[in-house]
This record gives sequence, C-alpha cells and structure tokens, in this order.
Amino acid sequence: MIAADQILIATRSPLLGPAEAVATAAYIVAALLFILALAGLSKQETARRGIVYGIAGMAIALVATFLLVLANGSLVPDGVTATLGTVLLVGAVVVGGVIGLWRARVVEMTGMPELIALLHSFVGLAAVLVGWNGHLYAEGIAPELVGIHHGEVFIGVFIGAVTFTGSIVAFLKLSGRMSSKPLMLPGKNSLNIGALVLFVALTAWYVVTPSIWLLVAVTALALALGWHLVASIGGGDMPVVVSMLNSYSGWAAAAAGFLLNNDLLIVTGALVGSSGAYLSYIMCKAMNRSFLSVIAGGFGIEAPRSANAEEGEHHETDAAAVAALLREARSVIITPGYGMAVAQAQYPVADLTKRLRERGVEVRFGIHPVAGRLPGHMNVLLAEAKVPYDIVLELDEINDDFADTDVVLVIGANDTVNPAAAEDPGSPIAGMPVLHVWEARNVVVFKRSMASGYAGVQNPLFFRDNTQMLFGDAKQRVEDILRAL
Ligand code: NDP
Repeated sequence: MIAADQILIATRSPLLGPAEAVATAAYIVAALLFILALAGLSKQETARRGIVYGIAGMAIALVATFLLVLANGSLVPDGVTATLGTVLLVGAVVVGGVIGLWRARVVEMTGMPELIALLHSFVGLAAVLVGWNGHLYAEGIAPELVGIHHGEVFIGVFIGAVTFTGSIVAFLKLSGRMSSKPLMLPGKNSLNIGALVLFVALTAWYVVTPSIWLLVAVTALALALGWHLVASIGGGDMPVVVSMLNSYSGWAAAAAGFLLNNDLLIVTGALVGSSGAYLSYIMCKAMNRSFLSVIAGGFGIEAPRSANAEEGEHHETDAAAVAALLREARSVIITPGYGMAVAQAQYPVADLTKRLRERGVEVRFGIHPVAGRLPGHMNVLLAEAKVPYDIVLELDEINDDFADTDVVLVIGANDTVNPAAAEDPGSPIAGMPVLHVWEARNVVVFKRSMASGYAGVQNPLFFRDNTQMLFGDAKQRVEDILRAL
C-alpha cells in the first residue's frame, strides 16, 4: 500500500521528469503488446506468439513501474517511507513471482479454472486495498477533482469486493469444495436489485460526505453481493461465470488504474474487462443462456423441477466387446469431456484414432463449447496428443452427422451429451445445445460409475437401448481396447 501510495504521490506531482516520460512511453509499448497478445491468442496457430507478446508487455510494464518508483523516491517528503516502499515493492514482486512460478509448474490442466478463479480474487482484493488507500491518502488532490476521486474510490472498492468474494465462491465450486447447485434464497432477485440501489445511494452520499463508515458499509455490501451472485448460479452456467469474473477483475483493475493515475492499468483493465465480457456473451450464445440473466446471478431462473431419478436399466460392456464393435465400424465419432482430462486419456485416444484411421475407419471428434472445465480445454488436450486439427470439429459442424455414424465413443463426457437438455424443458440444463450422440447406431460411454456430471443432473443417455457403459478409468479402458484391437 505504501508503494502504491508512493506511485500515487509521484505520478500526481507537477514535477514530471524524464522518468515519467520514459515510463509513459514504456506503458504505451506494453499496452500495444497486450493488444497484440489478445490478437495472437485468438487463433491456435498464433497463440504461442501471442503469449510471448503478453510476457514481453508485462516485463516492460513491471520494469517501468519499478524505475518510476525508484526515480520518484526522492520526491516523497519522508525518505524512510520511500525506502520502505521500494523494499516492499521488490519483496512483493519476488514473493509473488516465486509463488506464481511454483503454482504454474505444478498445476494440472484440470485445476486451471479454479486457479484462474483464485487469481481473479487477488485482483479484486488488490482493487479494494487500492480503494481504501485512496480514501486514507486523499490529500494533494485539486479541489475540483475531489468529488471524482471519491467516486473512483467507492466504485473501485465495490467492483473489487464483488470480484473478490465472487471469485472465491467460483473457486470453491470449481474445486468441488462447495456444491455446484444454485443457491435459491427466497427473493434472490430483489436482494440483488436492492443491493445495487443501495450502492448507488451510498455512492452519492459518500461523494458528498466521504466518511469512513460509508466505505466500510459498501465493502460489506459488495462482499455479500459477490458471494450471493455467484452462489446463485448453477453448475451448468459456471463457464460463463468464470469468464464474467475475468471481466469483473478487468474492470476492478481499471478502477484501480484511475485511482493510481496509471494509464497502463486503465488500458489493461479495459482490455481484460471488455474481452471477458465478450467471451461471456459468446459462451452464453453457445449455451443458449441469457447473458443478462447470468451476469445478474441467475436473474429470472427459477429452481428446476426435475429430480435426479434413475431411469431404468443400463447395459454394461467390456473392452473386448468395444474393440469388436470398432472393428466392424466404418465411421466413429469421439466426444471427449472432463473425464478424459482427469484420466489424461488423450494420448491413448490419439493412438486409437491413428490405429482406426489406418484401418480405413473415418474418425472425427465432436467438441462441445463447454466440454471440460475451461473454454478450449479439449482442443488443448487433443493438440497436445497431436490429433490432427482437421478431424476435430465443433458442435455445429458435427451435430447433424451422428445419425449416420456407426459408433460414438463418449470419453468422460456427461452434461455435454445429455439428451435431457434437448428433450426435458424442466431440466436444469434445458435449452443448452448438446451433442446428439444418442442418434448414432451405437454409443459407448466411458466413465467410472453412474454418477452425474458437473451440473449434478442425471443423464438419460445411459439408459438408452443403443448405449453401453464401459466402466473404469478412461485411460485404462482405452488402453485395454488398443490391446484387444
Ligand atoms: P461432466 O463434468 O459433465 O462429466 C464428466 C464425467 O467424467 C463425469 O460424469 C465422471 O463420471 C467422468 N469421469 C471423471 N473422471 C473420470 C475418469 N478418470 N475416467 C473416466 N471417466 C471419468 O463433463 P462434460 O465435459 O461433459 O461437461 C462439462 C461440465 O462442466 C458442464 O456442465 C459445463 O457447464 C461445466 N463447466 C465447464 C467449464 C468450461 O469452460 N468448459 C467451466 C466450468 C464448468 P464418473 O465420476 O462416474 O467417472
């Protein structure tokens, strides 16, 4: 906080020297690199280059900020504070860097979404701290700008606190520490709207009389709202929540940028905020969900009536029988899901694909937009195992072809192949487009038990006459099939 305060004082000083000029130029270069990074990440072929641009932009931004703090240390009246601030800044960068490097090396691909959710919570917390700092050190601001400053403090703290608790709930839900079922408090929509109205009223009050208890009140209000918004959203809609929190964390960073008078933070925050919002919109369209309803904490969504009832008998099969089925097949579609990622089955799946293609079987993959636990999860795993891109198709590209397919292998997917989404209007995932695997002549489902998927909904596919269950770890079962072939 002291370091942030130093930057605040330094960047608001009328004595703008060469350090500020260099830092401003470096910030512009970094902002351009961030834009190039986003552009690069939009295509598989250029993604690697995009990441290099992002790393370069962040390195330039860090060095420029560090030099700015060092150069302006002498402008801070209290020399001890200046030194302490610099030491804290270096300490924070080193500790943060070491923890970040360690986590990035050990995290499993399946653990990425919860790690991302946790990182968003840090951005939210930082925005709250910067806001509080802005309240405590508000001297030296031109009188005509004081009202704007207080507005920035209040809005920054609000967005930051919503992002903080919202991201923590997302982390708890994604890591299975909290149920993925939506919290259905009575009058939940009125609670959310009431909280927003109260926030507007408190903002106006604080701008006129900036007393600390108002800041305490808005922090508490926003922490509760963030918790409630995300807790109210059910399992199936979590992908949108993760990208929405990504967007909120961007706006929180932009708000902190206004307070710290830091152009790069404003630009970067706006980039993250708008790209996250756009991704949420695309995902909502892909899942046939209302964007406004999801960002408003499941606004207008009522508790689903469908129960998780068993739907009859299921048929069990074994690896040898599936190998025999594949030997006879002319066309095969593989629809992977979260279980393939857990089992790390992509390598034997790639081997199986190769083997079948060598025998002249047409093998393709059907990828649901929210299969796995993060956008593009399956595409990354299949690319890792060197499955050719041209046989990996999106839901829209392949959904009409199931009816003409001999065998569909559902490898660790559940919600994304659930016919209830298409056939049962009372299902919690009703209306979500799904892969129509049940239309194929034979369906083999690889999973360990009859348990439901992430959304906690029973899957009638398992009880269809043309479906056979192959129980066990997906990787072991695919290896068994390879041996039997
Ligand atoms: P699901 O989460 O619906 O189901 C995965 C299935 O894999 C489970 O039924 C599980 O059954 C099985 N499984 C787990 N481990 C193994 C293993 N080692 N071997 C074999 N099977 C295994 O997966 P989908 O990909 O179909 O759907 C994704 C869900 O996640 C959707 O509800 C989506 O909304 C949600 N989500 C998606 C995000 C995204 O951005 N893609 C982000 C957050 C949530 P069993 O335990 O019986 O083995």
